[in-house]
Amino acid sequence: MSLRTGIDVAYLVAAICFIIALRFLSSPKTARLGNLIGAAGMTLALAMTFATPGLTHFPLIVVAMVVGAVIGVPAARLVKMTAMPQMVAMFNGVGGGAAALVSLTEFSRDAGQHVAIYVIVEVLLGVIIGCVSFAGSAVSFAKLQELITGRPITYPGQQIVNAILGVVVLAFAGAVLATSSTLALVILLLLALVLGVAFVLPIGGADVPVLISLLNSFTGLAVAASGFVLHSTVLVVAGTLVGASGALLTRMMSLAMGRSLTNILFSAFGAVVTASGSTEGSGGGSVRAGTPEDIGVLLAYSRKVAIVPGYGLAVAQAQHVARELADTLTARGVEVYYAIHPVAGRMPGHMNVLLAEANVPYEQLEEMDDANRDMPTTDAALVVGANDVVNPAAKDSPGSPIYGMPILNVDQAANVIFLKRSMRPGFAGIDNQLLYDPKTTMLFGDAKDMLNQLVAAVRAA
Ligand code: NDP
Repeated sequence: MSLRTGIDVAYLVAAICFIIALRFLSSPKTARLGNLIGAAGMTLALAMTFATPGLTHFPLIVVAMVVGAVIGVPAARLVKMTAMPQMVAMFNGVGGGAAALVSLTEFSRDAGQHVAIYVIVEVLLGVIIGCVSFAGSAVSFAKLQELITGRPITYPGQQIVNAILGVVVLAFAGAVLATSSTLALVILLLLALVLGVAFVLPIGGADVPVLISLLNSFTGLAVAASGFVLHSTVLVVAGTLVGASGALLTRMMSLAMGRSLTNILFSAFGAVVTASGSTEGSGGGSVRAGTPEDIGVLLAYSRKVAIVPGYGLAVAQAQHVARELADTLTARGVEVYYAIHPVAGRMPGHMNVLLAEANVPYEQLEEMDDANRDMPTTDAALVVGANDVVNPAAKDSPGSPIYGMPILNVDQAANVIFLKRSMRPGFAGIDNQLLYDPKTTMLFGDAKDMLNQLVAAVRAA
């Protein structure tokens, strides 16, 4: 077997590893193994790249890899779980930018020679998609990191301006096709960057994680396009897998939020507070506040308790003490389950990852449909730092911005306890009437503090 064939076979093995990795990543039980298999595939692909005959600029490549590792490894290790979406945005953005630069470099190397139309099309796809993804991800990062406002940035006629920008980008793409001009390609690259920024500005912080998933899909396509340019099958396969899985994830997130992708991308959700919404809790009516001792007794003498985690659990890093509470209750003979909403928190699978970190047995996690089946027979639903994902306005108020979003029906449990610091609303910025319901008790405070006090109260009960 020649070296070339050996390398191609190794690339095939790497591509198979990526596919198996995705398969394994679809269940929390096998996700860790999936990650390792994916990493092994990537290491093999990298090793084969170095083995490729005629590889030049070896020292430069090594320096670039060291710089990337020095930045990437600590960033990934130190990042807080709540800041994960920003990190994904940043890593995704540099991937898109790299794909665009690869396409540009390959094109300018062949400048002046006859370049086949299909190669130019691949270069154009790499540059346009890669730049939109890079610039869009940079703005998404700034929004999530609160370097700029998370609210949609809008102005009159914005969609028309964006449409014109899109047409100008296409016109320059046509010019590159007709003339093979490197200058036209560089101008196109700059315009695509502007388009990326313009595309993301009107999207509100609440929708940015969905956008990041979409941009991730774009980056995959840009990488696949640069794979064609470089004649690298493994890049084409890896890019296509990222493109397809990003698109599927985007669709699943839109469905879980009960909104169409068009609505998410173009409705500037969160720009104006609607009639049924407010930025401070002002739903009217009185609320019943409880103490950890009262609620500890209620939980200790329940038959079945649902713990409903949300973004606040992640902020407070209360997953370990949530598990301690569940274990304490279980030891008393109470049946406990965690009701998991697909978009609780700020990224897909956020709650699963947090609870897995606290070694919560996977069997105790119930997906939304199962949890909703159990809710009517549940004595107490303890909602820890969640709000939108249990807001009945999604079912009852056609005017509400979250109307249509599938929710966890905690209102069907015999008792509802909301553990949060104030009456402030959640991410969508709208009131939750369930906070004022006679069957609801508020437990005000930080999730970690209060859960610790609940553990003590259950033990004392
Ligand atoms: P929400 O944002 O609706 O509510 C979180 C609640 O946590 C707040 O009301 C806040 O109230 C409370 N909180 C914050 N910090 C603490 C703390 N330290 N201790 C106790 N409570 C705290 O979160 P949900 O998880 O219910 O909903 C997720 C939202 O994010 C949905 O609107 C979803 O559409 C959106 N989203 C989710 C994505 C995903 O992939 N998961 C992606 C994009 C958007 P207070 O300030 O009073 O404490």
